[in-house]
This record gives sequence, structure tokens and C-alpha cells, in this order.
Amino acid sequence: MARTRKIGAVPVFLAMLVAGSALAAGPAKLKVALTFDDLPLNGTLSQGAKQSDYARDTVAVLKKHRIPPSYGFINAKKLERNPDAALGLKIWVDAGHPLANHTYDHLDFIKNSVEQFQREIVRNEPVLELLMPPEFAMGQFNWRWFRYPYLHEGDTLEKRRAVRVFLATNGYRIAQTTLDFGDYFYNSAHARCVTKQDAESIRWLRESYLADARAFMRYQVKLSRDAFGRDINHVLLLHLGSFSSHILPDLFKLLKEENFEIVTLEEAQSDPIYDIDPDVADRGGTLTDLVMKSKNIPWPPGEPSNPSERLLAICGDGPLDSH
Ligand SMILES: [Zn+2]
Repeated sequence: MARTRKIGAVPVFLAMLVAGSALAAGPAKLKVALTFDDLPLNGTLSQGAKQSDYARDTVAVLKKHRIPPSYGFINAKKLERNPDAALGLKIWVDAGHPLANHTYDHLDFIKNSVEQFQREIVRNEPVLELLMPPEFAMGQFNWRWFRYPYLHEGDTLEKRRAVRVFLATNGYRIAQTTLDFGDYFYNSAHARCVTKQDAESIRWLRESYLADARAFMRYQVKLSRDAFGRDINHVLLLHLGSFSSHILPDLFKLLKEENFEIVTLEEAQSDPIYDIDPDVADRGGTLTDLVMKSKNIPWPPGEPSNPSERLLAICGDGPLDSH
């Protein structure tokens, strides 16, 4: 009798221990990779700033917060007659972050043919070849990741499929996106407000950015559960510009609060959902959006939006512009 009780008690005690530790650990973390588009510069510069300043300040923040190597997607045209832009890319790579392809001149695939688009991909390659050192190429990181400008993957099935074949033939993987909160609205706005030394507006930018980030991420995580039937690894679309180094520490805090763990793009996209080709013609959207569309899943209510009008106007010259 006593023996039976003893045997029974051990598993119960173990079960309580396991349950206790699971409770302490909380729900499983969501993995997310950070990706930065439009290097060396998204948006405009504030007065007196250089492109390389933004890269230098941003990689310092990434280092301070121990962020794993994060891809910067480049448009090499921005390097023409601009040695400081090249320096910005070098700073990025020297800090241990890889670079990859975003077309030479940020080409919009909706407005251009398959041939023009493919030419722009190839034209971007020599700079990547030059700047990505052998230790990147030999390791797990390489520049043959492609991010479509504006997330425009093809407005007709014919165009979409042609470029997909081209990318695969040339050894590229598509850098997808599942989280996108319109951060690009904030870089030029911030640069203008810095130039004007408008502290009040910068405070509002900060609050608005974080509110947008939280609202979009919550909605898009929910959307991904609708589209894929489970939690997935995420890829967050960001843009390198004036606001980046200033706001990223707060964004990292927010990601932690929202139960995200930051990983590399390779790790995030090891999730098999990234092998899915929704194969739909569209005017742009995240992978989740396209999968929703291909499965005819309705969008749930409550989709957030950016305060875009205010962001475009803030710290502008106002009436002076019309003179
Ligand atoms: Zn872009």
C-alpha cells in the first residue's frame, strides 16, 4: 500500500515540476528576423548628416542589443558619385551584417517588364560581390537573397513566374516578409524634424511609430495564424534611415514585450512555410497576404493603418512649399 502510494507520488511530483517550469517559461517565443531595406539610405538626410552616419549609428545599436547578423538590402545606384554611400555599406558589413539584393535602382516590377527587372537584379550584383567578404560567402550568409522593391512580385502570373524561375536559376532565395508596419514613413519625417530641431514632433513620431508597430504586428501575427493554421517564424521589414538608430532600442523592447525572439533570416526562413509559392498575381503584399489571397481567406476586421497624411506633412515647410 505504502509502496503503491510512493510510486504514484513521484510522477505526480514530477508532473507538477514540469508544469511549474512550463508556466515560468511562458508561451513559446515567436522567432523573427530583422531585415533592413533600401541601403545605404531610405528617405532623406537631415541637414548636415551623412549616409554613413546612419549606418554607423545603427550598427552600434544592433551591437549593443546583441542583434544577430541582419541583412541589408541594397540599391547600388545610390553609390554612383557618392563615396560616403559606399562607406555606409562597408560599415554595415564590417559590423558583421550581410548585404543582399534589392535591385540596382529600386525598380517597380509593376511598371517594368521581366527583362528590365532581371537586368536590374544583375546590375546590382558587382557591388554585392565586392562588398561581401569571403568569410560571409563561405559561411552561412551570402548575398543571393532577393527582396522585391515595394513587395511587388508580379502583377501578372506570367511576370511573377518568369522572375521566380530567373531567381531560382541564379541561386537566389526570396527574402519574404510577414511583418510590415510602414516604418519607411518615419525616416524622412524624422530627418525633416531633426533639421527643424522640432523636439515635440520627434516625440510624436516616436509614440506613433511604436503604436503602429504594436498594432500591425498583433494584427499580422493573428493573420499568419489564419493563413497557416499555426504560429510561424516571422520576417520583419524595416528600412535604414534617419530614425533607425533612434527608435530601434524602443522597437527591441516592444518586440520582447510581444514575445518575439530575434533570429537570423536563415533561421526564420527555415520554417517550411517559406517554401510555399502562393502563385497569385498581385499588386504587392506580405507572404501572409498572398497566401490569404490564394486560399480565399477573408481578412479579419481591425486592420490598422499608418497616420500617413500627418507623417508626410510633419515638419514640412507648410505654406512655404507653395511659393
Ligand atoms: Zn525598398
